[in-house]
Amino acid sequence: MTTTSAPFRRAAYDAVIVGGGHNGLVAAAYLARAGKSVLVLERLGHTGGAAVSTRPFAGVDARLSRYSYLVSLLPAKIVRDLGLQFAVRGRTVSSYTPVERDGRAGGLLIGGSEARTRESFARLTGSGREYERWRAFYATTGRLARKVFPTLTEPLPSRSELRARVDDEAAWRMLFEEPLGLAVERHFADDLVRGVVLTDGLIGTFADAHDPSLAQNRCFLYHVIGGGTGDWNVPVGGMGALTDALARAARAAGAEILTGHEALRIDTDGTGAPAEVTFRTATGEGAVAGRAVLVNASPRALAELLGEAPAAPAEGAQLKVNMLLRRLPRLRDTSVDPREAFGGTFHIAEGYEQLARAHAEAATGELPSVPPSEIYCHSLTDPSILGPELVARGYQTLTLFGLHTPARLFEKDNRGAREVLLAGTLAQLDAHLAEPLTECLALDADGRPCIEAKTPLDLDRELRLPGGHIFHRDLSWPYADGPETGRWGVETRHPNVLLCGAGAVRGGGVSGVPGHNAAMAVLGR
Ligand SMILES: Cc1cc2nc3c(=O)[nH]c(=O)nc-3n(C[C@H](O)[C@H](O)[C@H](O)COP(=O)(O)OP(=O)(O)OC[C@H]3O[C@@H](n4cnc5c(N)ncnc54)[C@H](O)[C@@H]3O)c2cc1C
Repeated sequence: MTTTSAPFRRAAYDAVIVGGGHNGLVAAAYLARAGKSVLVLERLGHTGGAAVSTRPFAGVDARLSRYSYLVSLLPAKIVRDLGLQFAVRGRTVSSYTPVERDGRAGGLLIGGSEARTRESFARLTGSGREYERWRAFYATTGRLARKVFPTLTEPLPSRSELRARVDDEAAWRMLFEEPLGLAVERHFADDLVRGVVLTDGLIGTFADAHDPSLAQNRCFLYHVIGGGTGDWNVPVGGMGALTDALARAARAAGAEILTGHEALRIDTDGTGAPAEVTFRTATGEGAVAGRAVLVNASPRALAELLGEAPAAPAEGAQLKVNMLLRRLPRLRDTSVDPREAFGGTFHIAEGYEQLARAHAEAATGELPSVPPSEIYCHSLTDPSILGPELVARGYQTLTLFGLHTPARLFEKDNRGAREVLLAGTLAQLDAHLAEPLTECLALDADGRPCIEAKTPLDLDRELRLPGGHIFHRDLSWPYADGPETGRWGVETRHPNVLLCGAGAVRGGGVSGVPGHNAAMAVLGR
């Protein structure tokens, strides 16, 4: 073993943070601002984890949010507390879902204006009923969001405390106790409308509408409470702008951030004495002590670092595709401008029955024959991620997030399954376009089409997301599940080792919440 000469300033820190994902950086910034000495060790050559911008296409000045792409769960309080130079922008259209009925191309447009949304519902469903149900349903989730969201950055409430805070028996039952499918079927009659509602419960979550685990409910909950509104906004400058602002804030407050440093082991004697983190760099190994060690890496990594029994297995279930287009494709549904349709979330093959079928096929080991996915165009809302020449030429980015493709489907042949799934997914999109998408793809400097696809296994390899799970593990309820959960939901059985990443209680998504909460736990607040 070569011992690397430590490039950092101290042999011991108040806090050593394993992982420079956005949550690790949030924790670092809070702790450094509170006067603590902080060292962040990140294994990759850059910070950000799944919240980064990159130029994936050779010679093309397009900085895409490579993995995560929309922001809802980041509390304004964190942006304010840390003085971040970071902004989000609302989308004028929330979603568009194309559909062919009676041989006619149409679709459901949500957003633009209330009148347009109402009219779109009426045209699709033949009456005003479905729209009224939609309004009532989301009024309920909105009321719940305003009560639950502020609790995410407070000490963890018990189940009964949160229930009392929600103070709405019907809403509590619908979201916290019964499978989401019951509420969806009770409120809505139209298959397409049901599907659009359900998708928020299936992002990065492999579950059926009636799954007794209620994993779909927890995923849905995190998708409708963000910011107290459930709005999903566009990060100006791309997701990397958030990470860069966080890294700047942490460094400005005195935190040291080292990339290319992979933690290998955490030794702690459980007494609260400083723990030791052994790490590896390109040139050798070293060790550093931390009075607290905060692990931004996944629960799987935490168990490995501590040499403990493996964490419960996690499995991601999504396909992520990044594209650059020379122009947006024309739609078969001529009642909607492509700029509106792609500016919000564009749902494909996400009817309620289609989602159920895709889940059932995947559960039996098959790639979905009609793969569901959703698409959005960042550059329509925020062109700043494209170089000026691309903007002048009308280029646009496209991000696709596919559902119901669990990691197990890729284990035999990742590359082959990726190709088959990508082709099948694009075929579903093409069915609603007046021209094939591939004709609109830009070419990189080597003449290759600007498109890349990532399976769950790719994400595990690149980012160490366990089984490619975008939330490190299935989301938890935002309340204490028993006394062992701890005051902030970040505690482990070692008093000086905390989780500060997506796998914590109230983790998952681009929120900074577990980073904030781990910092509060260290500060004893
Ligand atoms: C394709 C995709 C799309 C998504 N879309 C959205 C979205 O639109 N909106 C949203 O809110 N969420 C989205 N998510 C989820 C969200 O991105 C993640 O839940 C969130 O970024 C997790 O942040 P984190 O800081 O907790 O962990 P991570 O981002 O996973 O960061 C952990 C860091 O720890 C490092 N690390 C791991 N092991 C070690 C080690 N041994 N030593 C040192 N460093 C280590 C990793 O390299 C990484 O940098 C998406 C995720 C993916 C993958």
